[in-house]
Amino acid sequence: MIRRIGVLTSGGDAPGMNAAIRAVTRSAIVKGLEVFGIHDGYLGMYENRIERLYRKSVSEKMRAGGTFLGTARLVEFDQAEVRQVALENLRNFNIEGLVVIGGDGSYRGGLALSKMGMPVVGVPGTIDNDIGGTDYTIGFDTAINTAVEAVDKLRDTSNSHRRCSIIEVMGRNRGDIAVWTAMAVGAEVCICKEFGFNLQEVIENVRRAAQSKRHAIIIVAENMVKVEELAQEISAHTPFEARATVLGHVQRGGSPTVRDRVFASVMGATAVEALLSGKDRHCVCYRDGKIVVMTFEEALVDDQTDLLEKFEIFKLLW
Ligand code: ADP
Repeated sequence: MIRRIGVLTSGGDAPGMNAAIRAVTRSAIVKGLEVFGIHDGYLGMYENRIERLYRKSVSEKMRAGGTFLGTARLVEFDQAEVRQVALENLRNFNIEGLVVIGGDGSYRGGLALSKMGMPVVGVPGTIDNDIGGTDYTIGFDTAINTAVEAVDKLRDTSNSHRRCSIIEVMGRNRGDIAVWTAMAVGAEVCICKEFGFNLQEVIENVRRAAQSKRHAIIIVAENMVKVEELAQEISAHTPFEARATVLGHVQRGGSPTVRDRVFASVMGATAVEALLSGKDRHCVCYRDGKIVVMTFEEALVDDQTDLLEKFEIFKLLW
């Protein structure tokens, strides 16, 4: 029977991580456990920066963006010796189970740690929505709402000046932020890994928009094209002058939306339940409308079906 658990946030931060830490802490305390917060993810675990969390440690944290425990990237965590030091630190606190809140990289770290004997359960915290096993990751809703608000503002000025706005959004490996934002703002073009990129098609779409509108919007997922170069092409081959904007880390910040707070709360409490029922190397997922628990290996498989369905619909919305 587990009596003491640790919780950490790792990798890229996401709005809603605080609500997840709160849910882990509160639900574990209600079940009679002691909870320890690990600062700055695996880095703080390695450096032994661990503190006891109480009910009041997580008061007033839910509405704040970011993560009050801090997060970090520790590339060396793929080395067994580094993990061994981190594991000894957990053992010195008599920590017998760990909740990792983070993205796929953090899950890989958790998997490696659990193979050395520490039970680990993951909670999906990343704005990118890029964990295959789950239809939803904490932070995604806040990020897309931030992106849509920014694009709506750019559209106002774009329309006044007869411009084409090219907006690069985040999403390293998956186009979810780009696709959801593009649909929500009625963009002319969405460029992401799943939809592909064809310069000639983009130019034709923008030309078509120029026949009936004073502006055009192109949403681009990061790492797809150089947006400044694309702006030059659009300016040279369409009636619009094009301007590129990279939204960047603004998408990671802000007070979490209701959806992110509620998902974080449910998923955090579910992770504690999973640890208590003896689950290890598992993570909490939202799948087909239900909260479920599956193994890290299952969840780390990339699943793009949903995005491809959205592409078919996107093409109908002209
Ligand atoms: P995210 O969790 O948001 O995907 P990263 O990919 O940066 O973010 O991963 C977060 C951290 O997880 C890394 O800095 C590293 O400490 C750990 N990690 C990632 N991949 C591995 C791996 N294969 N083995 C061990 N630890 C890993």
